[in-house]
Amino acid sequence: MFQIVPRGTTTNYQVGKLVCVARNYVDHIRELNNAFPDEPVMFTKPTTSIIVDGEKIIIPPYSTDCHHEVELAVLIGATGKDIPLHRAFQHVAGYGVALDMTLRDVQSVLKAKGLPWDKAKGFDTSCPLSSFVAAEAVADPQRLRIALRVNGALRQDATTALMMRGIPELIAAASAIFTLEAGDILLTGTPAGVAAVNSGDVLEAEIEQVGRLRVTVA
Ligand code: MG
Repeated sequence: MFQIVPRGTTTNYQVGKLVCVARNYVDHIRELNNAFPDEPVMFTKPTTSIIVDGEKIIIPPYSTDCHHEVELAVLIGATGKDIPLHRAFQHVAGYGVALDMTLRDVQSVLKAKGLPWDKAKGFDTSCPLSSFVAAEAVADPQRLRIALRVNGALRQDATTALMMRGIPELIAAASAIFTLEAGDILLTGTPAGVAAVNSGDVLEAEIEQVGRLRVTVA
């Protein structure tokens, strides 16, 4: 079990579902030659995919092409189903930094066959998470610099303003499928710049006002 106490609060959340959004930044859709989605593309990761700051990503033996995807993580603080846009932020307890580690070679094969992505995105250690900050501490979550460095070199550098669908839309769409419960986490998609990581690489992700995350590749 994985617990989160957002900085600035004393509330303890037991992490539930990890709901992830794919193809939510235009430049990233273009770099992978993906189609623009008519509706949010969603998938889930199991909680066993979570690791924390300082831990190691272990690339499974069935892949040779593991990519980093830095993403803003949204912690749900209040349960809801069919949450309307105008109430979406009332369901947010905090924000964190996440990496949606993706086995691109495995995912490409699954995509071509029309199969689910779990093997490519749900493996153990595929979801490094930072500590979380209380929602009230973030002035505007759609205006945050989001960046990832690998061995000190800047690989991803964007702003959450570039999301095609903002946090309220994602919460509304996700809660139309899944009841969102307190402790669930929503990963909001990655900007451009994704690339492969290798054994020994140091990944440092940062989102302004939210926090930092540093993990290594085993
Ligand atoms: Mg992603």
